[in-house]
Amino acid sequence: MSYQVLARKWRPRTFREMVGQGHVLQTLIHALDSQRLHHAYLFTGTRGVGKTTIARILARCLNCETGITSNPCGECSACREINEGRFIDLIEVDAASRTKVEDTRELLENVQYAPSRGRFKVFLIDEVHMLSNNSFNALLKTLEEPPPHVKFLLATTDPQKLPVTVLSRCLQFNLKNLSPEKLVEHLKFILGEEKIAYEEPSLWQLGRAAQGSVRDCLTLLDQAIGFCEGKLTTAKVSEFLGSIDQGEIRALMEALIAEDAAAALATVRKLADTSPDFAVVLQELLSWLHRVAIAQVVPDAIDNSLGDREQVLAHAAALSRENVQLYYQIALKGREDLPAALDARSGLEMTLLRMLAFTPQLPGKTAAPTKNIDPVATGQKKKLTVEPEPEPALPLQVATPKVAKSRLSPSELQAAAVQTTATAAAPRITASTEASEPAVKPAPPVQLSGRPIALAELSTDTWPQVFLQLGLAGVTRSIAGHCALALVSGDQLKLVLDSRHGALFNEEHGRRLELALSDYFGQALKVQVASGTPASETPSGRRIRIEDERRLAAVHEFTHDPLVQALVTRFGAEINYESITPLNPDQH
Ligand SMILES: [Zn+2]
Repeated sequence: MSYQVLARKWRPRTFREMVGQGHVLQTLIHALDSQRLHHAYLFTGTRGVGKTTIARILARCLNCETGITSNPCGECSACREINEGRFIDLIEVDAASRTKVEDTRELLENVQYAPSRGRFKVFLIDEVHMLSNNSFNALLKTLEEPPPHVKFLLATTDPQKLPVTVLSRCLQFNLKNLSPEKLVEHLKFILGEEKIAYEEPSLWQLGRAAQGSVRDCLTLLDQAIGFCEGKLTTAKVSEFLGSIDQGEIRALMEALIAEDAAAALATVRKLADTSPDFAVVLQELLSWLHRVAIAQVVPDAIDNSLGDREQVLAHAAALSRENVQLYYQIALKGREDLPAALDARSGLEMTLLRMLAFTPQLPGKTAAPTKNIDPVATGQKKKLTVEPEPEPALPLQVATPKVAKSRLSPSELQAAAVQTTATAAAPRITASTEASEPAVKPAPPVQLSGRPIALAELSTDTWPQVFLQLGLAGVTRSIAGHCALALVSGDQLKLVLDSRHGALFNEEHGRRLELALSDYFGQALKVQVASGTPASETPSGRRIRIEDERRLAAVHEFTHDPLVQALVTRFGAEINYESITPLNPDQH
């Protein structure tokens, strides 16, 4: 049995088999069913979206021996001959190769004769914009007074190049690019029929690479099947496309969210095994950050067209808007600087480390870019960070070397934190641990987030402080951060979750929050979380406000530092020096 390429084998024979373009098909089907026919149709759209496929189906609809129909029989000789490309009354012209006016004249001389076999003589002119002006004039004459037995089906990728006089005489249909979602759906169908196994992410890679074209998508599928020898795996398809496995981009994002330099570097190492184009890695990271930024402002704008909606929303909830903007700027700059880097891989690594170094800190930390990343220390799943208080007298360098080599235990850190509280101008030290190491508890929050709050003291003012001490993690933390306290009554607490951040909320988060609060206050509480508009400040709102205030102070503080100068001049055009407010250490 001879092998037939998939694009040809699965070329739709009826409107109902078409992928996408529902808006066009509906109109055509309606026109055919009600016998309201136009004499000239123009199909526009990028390559491989189905322009000539629709035109050929339309030619069958018009000439099927069962009568004009939106559902040609496929059995009669007209249907079969059109299908096989040998129907005498379907005249297909590729204008790209026939642009001379003589050609068109010769072609159009044919128009006056009645069809020899079919109901209509159908002229299908592909890439019609390539015709010369004289050819257009010849065509226009026929379009102005078309004989009743003639139909023109024109197709073009570039309708702007058509004379208005021609455009105005055609019924125009704009074909859309297909979404990756639609393409993946189609690929799944074909692979199911062909009985070929696949890993789903590999289909999303193909769907993205096809850039909206069904034909390109099926051509890529054909080649990928050959390359993968049987089963389509994500790794093999990445290698074939020279594309980046989105799973790795997601891993990079998660390393950034966890502020885990070791994980980021490990992901780069893994990526390096496939010898990727590191500029493309940054490109993909930029594209991911872009979607996260959009998700933060308009969550509904994120569709699942790339198969990763849930992850993007989770990242949007886990990162502050400022961080996303900063990461984006740094990635953009990193890509620009890549050619100047020692090599592309180290360029990417430096970009990621710079993101972590410049991450504005959570409450209790300053926005100053003094975080230390020690791959060895982070390799032990423990991150140490030191931020100097933004006291003018304190040079940036004081804090840095001290912790770069340190392996402080939580108790040492606690002691150091107590000490620094006493001296106020000394570096503030915080420790955080991965959730995967429950044995190592974060340092008691007393020094970091103030004294414990009793239930009787719980109010809209103290709620953000309680939040910091709850020890929540992940999505639950993010959700609680967007809650304002609405009511305390006996053992009943009511929280209002900012509805703009409600996308990821489910009962499990409510239960965890209730447990954490009960645990914190030492009594069983009933916690109700309702979606709405918070009437008081949420911990997240407070954090952003304090971060903003602190960042301004810190930027002012460290403008003499070359690193920060680079940050300000290259990334920070938005800093407003006039609005800097003095920092009050008791603010949180
Ligand atoms: Zn037929």
